[in-house]
Amino acid sequence: MPSLETLYDSYSSCNLCSRLTDSRTQVVFGEGDPDADLLIVGEAPGYNEDALGRPFIGASGLLLDTFLAYFATKDNTRLHKLGAKMARGYQPTDEEADEIRDDLSHEEKIFYTNAVLCRPPENADPSKDELAACRERLEQTVYAIDPLLILAVGKVPVQALLGKAIRITHDRGQLFDIEIPGVTGGIRYPLLVTYHPAYVARIGDFTSKTGPGQLFASDLQKAFALLDEIRHLSRNETKPTRRKWK
Ligand code: URA
Repeated sequence: MPSLETLYDSYSSCNLCSRLTDSRTQVVFGEGDPDADLLIVGEAPGYNEDALGRPFIGASGLLLDTFLAYFATKDNTRLHKLGAKMARGYQPTDEEADEIRDDLSHEEKIFYTNAVLCRPPENADPSKDELAACRERLEQTVYAIDPLLILAVGKVPVQALLGKAIRITHDRGQLFDIEIPGVTGGIRYPLLVTYHPAYVARIGDFTSKTGPGQLFASDLQKAFALLDEIRHLSRNETKPTRRKWK
């Protein structure tokens, strides 16, 4: 099975789908800790991601990182402090946003990728064929990173990983079980589903208990609680102190 580095090299000039090969500026492979415990899978790169070759760096990425930082362990002082400030509306500088991504990657052990690696034209949803063409790469990425938990943001990555459509309003907050091919058979991973941060940003409702903002925050809280539980059970790690969502 290929390593993450080999995958990065072999997909850097991928041309498995002609529409996305034409529409992209570059392949956005993903970034973060190659030994991540949490693998975040989004839909597809957008305008900013395509221009800079990095996943989740536009407005929806900032919203995602804000909530991830909000729940960072108390020991990750910079993240923990900035997370609270950003949840109150503070806009980080570009330099701070990069530091936050770096801390989330290496201190919280996160890797970010997408269901497809290339920006679709006009930010359209990737087609079924495009998801299928990128699926082997996604499975190989999961295999190479071997995370403790996968967080799928939005219905497109769930479709890519589970192989079936879900209803996001009904199924968000739920834990699924996926199987990816390994050397001697299938390997199972827990998959938690939440809203796409672009949807959360668009609706922008953080006050009503049933609004997407509150539900997104509670799903991310759940993701960290699950991670802490799995780390405790599998590695005997002490559970860290994290903020609770108000
Ligand atoms: N939306 C996604 O799903 N992925 C990105 O990388 C950026 C925006």
